[in-house]
Amino acid sequence: MPLDFTHDATRQSWVVTANAPDTDFPLQNLPFGRFAEPSHPALRIGVAIGDHVLDVTRLAATLTAEDAGEAYAGFQACATGDLAALCALPPAQVVVVRRWLSNALWDAAPDAAANRARLAPFLHPQAAVTLHRPLDFKNYTDFYASVFHATNVGAMFRPDNPLLPNYKYVPIGYHGRASSVVVSGTPVRRPFGQTRPNSEAPPVFGPSRLLDYELEVGIVVGQGNALGEPIPMGVADEHIFGLCLLNDWSARDIQAWEYQPLGPFLSKSFATSVSPWIVTRAALAPFRCPAYARPAGDPSPLDYLLDETDQRQGGFDVTLEVELTTARMRAEGLPPVRLSQSQLADLYWTPAQLLAHHASNGCNLQPGDLLGSGTVSGPTKDARGCLLELTWRGAEPLTLPSGETRRFLEDGDEVILRGFCVREGFRRIGLGECRGQITA
Ligand code: CA
Repeated sequence: MPLDFTHDATRQSWVVTANAPDTDFPLQNLPFGRFAEPSHPALRIGVAIGDHVLDVTRLAATLTAEDAGEAYAGFQACATGDLAALCALPPAQVVVVRRWLSNALWDAAPDAAANRARLAPFLHPQAAVTLHRPLDFKNYTDFYASVFHATNVGAMFRPDNPLLPNYKYVPIGYHGRASSVVVSGTPVRRPFGQTRPNSEAPPVFGPSRLLDYELEVGIVVGQGNALGEPIPMGVADEHIFGLCLLNDWSARDIQAWEYQPLGPFLSKSFATSVSPWIVTRAALAPFRCPAYARPAGDPSPLDYLLDETDQRQGGFDVTLEVELTTARMRAEGLPPVRLSQSQLADLYWTPAQLLAHHASNGCNLQPGDLLGSGTVSGPTKDARGCLLELTWRGAEPLTLPSGETRRFLEDGDEVILRGFCVREGFRRIGLGECRGQITA
């Protein structure tokens, strides 16, 4: 994915909030999402620019083939209002839509005044619209790609043998529930389920008492593959449309009782939150990095997961954070407290390896499918991406600025995930935020 003028850090937008140093959505980002206005409830595709959203669906309907040039096919896909139509196009077609938008929103373009007059009717403050989940995901698969997370969780259950022998050979995952993927801001109701708090007594049915979050990144699939035809490792990266934030809410007590022998089920399927914006692979091009450097003695990936380019630049240099507020903290005017910070580049497998593995048996991935990275934890204690790890299964409670303690989430707690990319010589871009508040 080559760099081009859309990554030029000196470019500014006539949407002035896009030029704020700390915005997640400068001209260099241009992430895609879906929104509706109170007066027009039909969902449209939008692009975030500063604190505004550009209605690309309605803009596209006004563009002639001459206006749009080589971006015409991409804008026609946006005119449908279904982001999966854009995901389904060859990546080069997405890039030319990005270039068209970058030029049209650029304050120093030769025709900036005309561009502004043309686009202004399609700009809305984000605060004045409702952001929806970016896609109606047909399929959702969650992986387990952080070796630090897998080792920590394994150590709680199997202190002598934390990492199972398959881990360093096969990307571990399970099929999640697509219908319960919700957009940031949607309340998450504490699930009921079957648990066995006392191993000497029969199981009970009731509200989960060990509710947790998981800090993850969602990988949105671009072009799919035909049933029976795997995606070769050498082109797997080109099948990534973009990345978003993902919170894989997890009921640990339900999980502990149900997970053997087939893996998580109702402990996960009650809700998964995603951020409203998908940052495209093109926007992330300046922030690529090598695949995780495996320690000496670890096996090399099998051939079908090994590609020289992927090893050299298959990682994404994204910093991820978790913040928490409680009802009492909000009542006392206390700001959210940061619980952890970790790096997407610390994943044991690259997103392209996860995608190639998923399709390696001939399973057909479809445009707009959602793959979760798995909890992104790092080597240090402050880089643990869930409460299960941070409090070591509740044995080491956290103390919050309000004086409250937490082992797991309480009703009224709000979890906020954030992600951003910083690299010398490039404009900082962000993934926005992914919020969810627990209700009784
Ligand atoms: Ca997970």
